Amino acid sequence: MEPQEEARTLGASVPRPAGASGSPTRGEEERPEGSAAPVAAPAGEEGDGAGADGLWGLPVERAERRPECSRCSRPQKVCLCPYLPVYPLQISTHLYIIQHPAEESKVLRTVPLLAACLPPDKCTVKIGRRFSEERDIELSTVCRDSGTLILYPGAEATNLEEFILDSPVYPSTIIIIDGTWSQAKDIFYKNSLFRLPKQVQLKTSICSQYVIRMQPTSRCLSTLECAAGALSILEKNKYIQEILLRPLQALCSFQLQHGAQIRLSKEYLLKNGLYPKPMPKNKRKLRKMELLMNSVKI
Ligand SMILES: [Zn+2]
Repeated sequence: MEPQEEARTLGASVPRPAGASGSPTRGEEERPEGSAAPVAAPAGEEGDGAGADGLWGLPVERAERRPECSRCSRPQKVCLCPYLPVYPLQISTHLYIIQHPAEESKVLRTVPLLAACLPPDKCTVKIGRRFSEERDIELSTVCRDSGTLILYPGAEATNLEEFILDSPVYPSTIIIIDGTWSQAKDIFYKNSLFRLPKQVQLKTSICSQYVIRMQPTSRCLSTLECAAGALSILEKNKYIQEILLRPLQALCSFQLQHGAQIRLSKEYLLKNGLYPKPMPKNKRKLRKMELLMNSVKI
């Protein structure tokens, strides 16, 4: 059996909510913010323990981390709180975000913004790659509940809007995986727990507004966008989507004003001969790129 990685839950008492959702629609690259200081290990986090004992005596460079706003987790100078609702949105759906550990340390994260818009008891962020019935009792109870859905696109997934029309039990919880496309796939397929809830997807033709992080295609949405779409459908309130997207729009506009460039999707770059890197040698990866170039949905 594969050794279980430590899974953690970030609750309301944690000042810095984890980074954003594991929708499998995430891009694969991240642009560091301008002259951002190196991202140090978040204060208070446990290390992974393995083989690093000799390093614990070294001074920790926490001082280099810029002070963060306790609500939006952005550096204080570029706090996005003015774009957040004054009070958390009153929703009845519980959002469960399963976050790949690599997302937590990224500079441009959307999950803290999402968490800051929602009541703490309606948004749970769980960090990890492997979850089990025995160790993650709360999560396994959530996954076994007939009112729980998991947002993960694919042939098996039903469109959320159609699902709620016919469902005998109105969904009370939705799980979203936060990570790159391949991280989300790994989490979804390697944890049998995530096969228990009804699998749903968003039927959407909108393009991502998260233009500062490269996405595989312009139709791939960030975790925050997925959560905004799903919650507005489940809560039957379009206004929710509008409110949740406001800080993302502000983040992108701020980054663009300060030198970030619009990250065209991999699909666009490939189709227009602008892809800046050599094509991969790995056959599976190459096939994926060809599918993208031919606009086949991956
Ligand atoms: Zn703030």
